[in-house]
Amino acid sequence: MGAISQDYGVLSYIRFSMDEQEAIQKKREQISRVQRTRRLVTIFLSIFIIFTIAALICLAVSVYSLNSKLDKLDQTIRYLSTHSAQGKNSLSYDYDLKQNSYKTDKENLADESDIRKVYLTFDDGPSSNTGKILDILDDYNVKATFFVNGRTDKHSIKMYKRIVNEGHTIGMHSYTHRYNQVYASREAFEKDFFRIRKLIYDTTGVKSVYYRFPGGSSNKVSNTNISDLISFLDKEKVTYFDWNVMSGDAVSNELKSSQIIENVMSDVIKYKTSVVLMHDAANKDSTVAALPALIQKLQKEGDLLLPIDKDTRLIQHVTLSDK
Ligand code: ZN
Repeated sequence: MGAISQDYGVLSYIRFSMDEQEAIQKKREQISRVQRTRRLVTIFLSIFIIFTIAALICLAVSVYSLNSKLDKLDQTIRYLSTHSAQGKNSLSYDYDLKQNSYKTDKENLADESDIRKVYLTFDDGPSSNTGKILDILDDYNVKATFFVNGRTDKHSIKMYKRIVNEGHTIGMHSYTHRYNQVYASREAFEKDFFRIRKLIYDTTGVKSVYYRFPGGSSNKVSNTNISDLISFLDKEKVTYFDWNVMSGDAVSNELKSSQIIENVMSDVIKYKTSVVLMHDAANKDSTVAALPALIQKLQKEGDLLLPIDKDTRLIQHVTLSDK
């Protein structure tokens, strides 16, 4: 009897121990399931974070490229809206203006024997390209003219000073360059004019006497009678200059530098005095790239490269008829 109960005790012990082992085994499986799940969640979260970061980077890149595309479009539209008027009798103002006077100025047509004067002019700066242009001009000992806009950051202030200190002519090209503001009314034009003049005076000590209308004097975007603005500049003893040679750098930022050089070289041979329209805006890298070879070619032709001064022949798209 005693032996039987002993056997029973051993059996129950074995069964118990088997139950325990099963429980342990289950527990183990449970733990490993939890660990697997945790690993999966971690992997999933990592993939999610990496994917989100990648998507954000892609988004930032496409915003940036869209922005620069918009910028180019804006430049093109601006150019087309301001230059489509050239050469056509399309000004609808009811005042008497001589249009494209430089085109009818026969005295400015060059002969083979003439020593041609070439005035390189840069609009829309200062920008990150202005310093590079100043360095190139310095390399070739060439003086030019900068028609500047109003900017008060450290770099721009430095550029205004460099332009003046390095012997170039500083001209005004409106403070804001926003057509809807500059040309909103004569009062708005005057206010903008005094603002850019003061900024130049305060930073360089020069009271600028040269102006280039944003879009030129033949622009079609001005809401204000341009003859009023010309009279105002006259009263302020300020001379405005347009251009008779276009580098073409206003049309596209992707214009090849060889094209810029060709545009300029094919036109400067026509005139005794050429005023060349170029831009030192931040996106005009091809202008910077074209400049050294352009200067070399002009100098090889024997052309005089000069900064605008009081003796420069007036190159104006429109003038008051009684002038
Ligand atoms: Zn401009």
